[in-house]
Amino acid sequence: MANYDRERERAVIVGVIFPHQTRAQVEEYLDELELLADTAGADVVCRVYQERDKPDPAFFIGRGKAEQIAKIVEEEKIDLVIFDDDLSGVQIRNLENIINCKIIDRTTLILDIFASHARTAPAKIQVELAQLEYLLPRLTGKWRHLSKQYGGIGTKGPGETQLETDRRLIKRKIAILRRKLGEIDNQRKVQRKGRRDIFRVALVGYTNAGKSTLLNVMANTNVYVEDKLFATLDATTRVIKFSPTKKVLLTDTVGFIRKLPHHLIASFKSTLDEIIEADILIHVVDISAPNFREQIKVVEETLEELNSLDKPTIIAFNKIDKLQDRSIIHTLAKEYENAVFISASRGVNIQALKDKILQLIDDHYVEITGKVNVSNPEAMSIIYKLGEVLDVKYDDDNYITLRVKVEKRHLPKISAYILT
Ligand code: GDP
Ligand code: MG
Repeated sequence: MANYDRERERAVIVGVIFPHQTRAQVEEYLDELELLADTAGADVVCRVYQERDKPDPAFFIGRGKAEQIAKIVEEEKIDLVIFDDDLSGVQIRNLENIINCKIIDRTTLILDIFASHARTAPAKIQVELAQLEYLLPRLTGKWRHLSKQYGGIGTKGPGETQLETDRRLIKRKIAILRRKLGEIDNQRKVQRKGRRDIFRVALVGYTNAGKSTLLNVMANTNVYVEDKLFATLDATTRVIKFSPTKKVLLTDTVGFIRKLPHHLIASFKSTLDEIIEADILIHVVDISAPNFREQIKVVEETLEELNSLDKPTIIAFNKIDKLQDRSIIHTLAKEYENAVFISASRGVNIQALKDKILQLIDDHYVEITGKVNVSNPEAMSIIYKLGEVLDVKYDDDNYITLRVKVEKRHLPKISAYILT
């Protein structure tokens, strides 16, 4: 398909091997970067590696290496060079003076993919905000000024005209987007309040682990599934019925990926609120990925940043249909307390996962109902902090009756204040 080929860009990807890393590790990083590039619409023609003690302040890599890349770009008709690490504005400018094509870094690439996958208003606003904040100090690259002419990867999103406007305008835009996001956040909070008394389960995991596929089989719906990174950017929520009386809300979330910059996580907070507010997490892991242990670590680090690492969590090892050697299952079952081994796409062991969810709810949560003395400020603050108040009845001036959902581990602290 000639047309298809013409639209795809030709890329060189660059990985630096620092002293604390092995070559194999950086090769895996570049495998992932290649998948990201593919998702964004670029074919990787060539990989460049360099061992360094630390980044060069002017070029990130050595000047000689940059000149070598310039030659490849010339000979292979390359459209863009993608660095696996974040570059500063100065480094981009210097590299662009030597290398005659667009220079972008991993974060810019991820933001670009986010920009083309965002569908709902909040997702679009969040991406635009993240792009403006990340790109603002890097706006000097000459290719972005020419982006009307060159377009393509790294130039999508906030719009060429906005990028060309001065910083003040962009800052004003950032403020407007923040405010809009705040409004949407409030709306969401109100919506979420309406579904308090039902257990909330959030699917988390590395991108492409199979979260959306799992949501589909569990809810019998059709959430967009694609073998691309970040196919879903918006949180999707479905009601899963275990029985006519037992149901939970299951939410799909944006996948995590290594080197997702901190401020990017912050700007996706309203999506990630689904995780923060969930009662239970299902951490979906692609057991067939060679580096799945590193992926688990990335997800756990991100959860830590969201203060959600200590939530009751089921670890769902997915894609067991792709395993050639099944002995790993045995090892992992010993290693992880709440592990289930599933194939979301083939519907294998889904019932076991559902049973596990119910078990975890039973293990970790109780509902208590009782009278509370309203004139005791300490009582009220502890109950509201540690529990979730599902129902309030006003008895008289001094007492109210509360129905509270609470994690069992907090029960001793709370029950002292609730007269049952
Ligand atoms: P997400 O990024 O975590 O939401 O992942 P998706 O649900 O979009 O799935 C990513 C890719 O993995 C898709 O191509 C799915 O068809 C595939 N996939 C999901 N679950 C399984 C599974 O159990 N076995 C296999 N072989 N592929 C799966
Ligand atoms: Mg998905």
